[in-house]
Amino acid sequence: MQTISINNSQKLQLQPLEMPQRLLLGPGPSNTHTEVLQAMNTPPVGHLDPAFLALMDEIQSLLRYVWQTENSLTIAVSGTGTAAMEATIANSVEPGDVVLVGVAGYFGDRLVDMAGRYGADVRTITKPWGQIFTLQELQTALETHRPAILALVHAETSTGARQPLEGVGDLCREFGCLLLVDTVTSLGGVPIFLDQWGVDLAYSCSQKGLGCPPGASPLTLSQRAMEKLQQRRTKVKNWYLDVSLLSKYWGKERVYHHTAPINLYYALREALRLVAEEGLENCWQRHQNNVEYLWESLESLGLSLHVEREFRLPTLTTVRIPEGVDGKALSRRLLNEYNIEIGGGLGELAGIVWRIGLMGYNSRQESVDKLVEALRALLVGK
Ligand SMILES: *Cc1c(COP(=O)(O)O)cnc(C)c1O
Repeated sequence: MQTISINNSQKLQLQPLEMPQRLLLGPGPSNTHTEVLQAMNTPPVGHLDPAFLALMDEIQSLLRYVWQTENSLTIAVSGTGTAAMEATIANSVEPGDVVLVGVAGYFGDRLVDMAGRYGADVRTITKPWGQIFTLQELQTALETHRPAILALVHAETSTGARQPLEGVGDLCREFGCLLLVDTVTSLGGVPIFLDQWGVDLAYSCSQKGLGCPPGASPLTLSQRAMEKLQQRRTKVKNWYLDVSLLSKYWGKERVYHHTAPINLYYALREALRLVAEEGLENCWQRHQNNVEYLWESLESLGLSLHVEREFRLPTLTTVRIPEGVDGKALSRRLLNEYNIEIGGGLGELAGIVWRIGLMGYNSRQESVDKLVEALRALLVGK
């Protein structure tokens, strides 16, 4: 072991980096495919190198594919999903705009906080955590609030519920508002048809359904969203995430804005290529098959699931902690003794559920078997 002095008073004993190998079955990050890690190890080129610009074009095409959109403004934001979330809000909200947010979990609340910070007149509709909004409920809320933007979370990672979006875009057009959707835990794992559903602004992340390390996050804006952006009376209040500046780097002009996280873009490109190689529909089907296997296996242990079957996510399952079991202690033992990470509950569901993710590369029968075997041992042995 090497002793390194970092100043006169402090000496550190430092070895080259070594981290435990975990099976990441929580709410994200998920494990990274080895081919993605290898791509990330490729030495960086410059952020204006023609080879890199070509790779950015590939990322754009692949993102349009996984999102099923033709939006020309489809890019990756440098930062995690929250940065891409903030990009949608910062660019679409002008002070005084009414923004209606559907809140049925932790990430709905985050959208409320963010929109408020950008000066929106925020209105909410709420549901108990684990439930979804019906089209009728959304229509009534649009009639009442007449918002400029309706924001919904497609895959609420804090609850495991999938918000159906069919028909919502048509309603938004009828009421003259934009539809903003969080697809952080759905992209790559849950069927999404952005254009067919009439979604105007969407964002995601790299480290969940796409099975890539965190740090490069998909963002897309429809023509209607771009028009609202062009008609702004005030500048976007966030320089780093200003889409009109970012689009000059991603578009034809190729103007420097900030240094792209080169190696993360390598990783994202490779993760997206793997989805395309598998085929998007096959990828969705794999997530569905494996999660059904998980549900059956958990139920065979006597556990019960929190969300009604029809609205359960293929990427994230909330399972109730049985009476008399210390949920935190069990997760700690899963991590320490079995190297398996799962998540605990947030907000209304804290102490009530565990959250199990089967995302991207981790959506495999083998991951389910390992987890269920460990859970069986820990629950029986408690
Ligand atoms: C994870 C997550 C986010 C935030 O993404 P980060 O990459 O953690 O910044 C936003 N929305 C949902 C639904 C998420 O699951």
